[in-house]
Amino acid sequence: MRIVHVSLGNRSYDIKIAPGLIDRFGRECARVKLGSRCAIITDTNVGKRYAKAVFNSLATAGFSPSLIIVQPGEAAKSLKTVQSCYDQLAVHRLERRSFIVALGGGVVGDLAGFLAATYLRGIEFVQAPTTLLAQVDSSVGGKVGVNLNAGKNLVGAFYQPRLVACDLDTLKTLPDREFRAGLAEVIKYGIIYDAKLFAQIEKDLHKLLKREAKMLAAVVARCCEIKAEVVGRDETEGGPRAILNFGHTIGHAIEAVSGYGRFLHGEAIAIGQVAVARISSRLLGLPERDLERIVRLFRRVGLPTTVRLRAAQRPKLFAAMRLDKKVSGGEIKFVLARKIGRVQYGQKVPVALIDEALNLQPPGASKRTEDASIN
Ligand code: ADP
Ligand code: ZN
Repeated sequence: MRIVHVSLGNRSYDIKIAPGLIDRFGRECARVKLGSRCAIITDTNVGKRYAKAVFNSLATAGFSPSLIIVQPGEAAKSLKTVQSCYDQLAVHRLERRSFIVALGGGVVGDLAGFLAATYLRGIEFVQAPTTLLAQVDSSVGGKVGVNLNAGKNLVGAFYQPRLVACDLDTLKTLPDREFRAGLAEVIKYGIIYDAKLFAQIEKDLHKLLKREAKMLAAVVARCCEIKAEVVGRDETEGGPRAILNFGHTIGHAIEAVSGYGRFLHGEAIAIGQVAVARISSRLLGLPERDLERIVRLFRRVGLPTTVRLRAAQRPKLFAAMRLDKKVSGGEIKFVLARKIGRVQYGQKVPVALIDEALNLQPPGASKRTEDASIN
């Protein structure tokens, strides 16, 4: 088992990474000393596969679990679902010392974390992330929340779990498209922080795509370590945590403009990362060879690297970028790369360059563009 410690003073906790963790889930929870009553929050897809194992494991370890099942997909991150879950938590008589288990991907993690942060002014919670994206990204760092009609993640909190248990076996049932989209965040860690990780993914991509346990363990652990290090220095995003947003300002705007659901988050940020890599080569001297490696790796994973936008969508894209929560004082600041493994945040980018980076079609890219637009 690999353990990554997240160091946040009295809110510190461990991320445990191993195959088969769900079967030992109850014992792991017992170690962190939680109250006896708990509610497992999951969605129908994950629930039908893993809820029973988690439930039984908790019961065997002496806890009294109950189960709350929500619909899969982003729509579950709504105040309507929150309301219905609050009611069920009350029916199950969860009290101050009870805890919530988030069993699922990023959607369930954000929703369950938000419920934990707010129910009875805050009860404990434990994450059992089951998507690659959730294991390497959304379950680490304590951001929880739900969407409003006006935009994604507009209501939420910073709220740390007591434990994160990443069962690598659960990734075996993850749909291929979801797995590949999760790799976009993995590659991001290589670009922003760790050239060795990037090179390892380049070298062993076939093993990663086969979801080999050893390879997954190493990669998930390294990504969690990087995120924990970054978050440990800047829990609430005043400064260095911004590097985690590499490719995200453009990525979020693409998600919004193309209509949520057309691109998975990972796909949108693959396009965003390639665009900012292009901008980086113009503004920060990112070497041409590094730019090529970045584009090539995303393509090998099968992720889109460009998007074809109709002229009418362009102003909407820029409007969406300005609405991004990270924008302050109307100025869009970007995280740009100097080389693979090294980035700088707070970089101002002329609008014309953004436009150019999104338009640019490197030789042989037209096929991928096609892919992106029909995705
Ligand atoms: P993300 O983690 O990417 O934010 P979601 O929480 O929306 O995404 O999960 C993506 C989809 O994959 C959802 O439909 C969810 O029910 C499903 N899912 C999550 N984990 C698994 C798994 N281990 N096996 C199969 N399907 C899963
Ligand atoms: Zn992301």
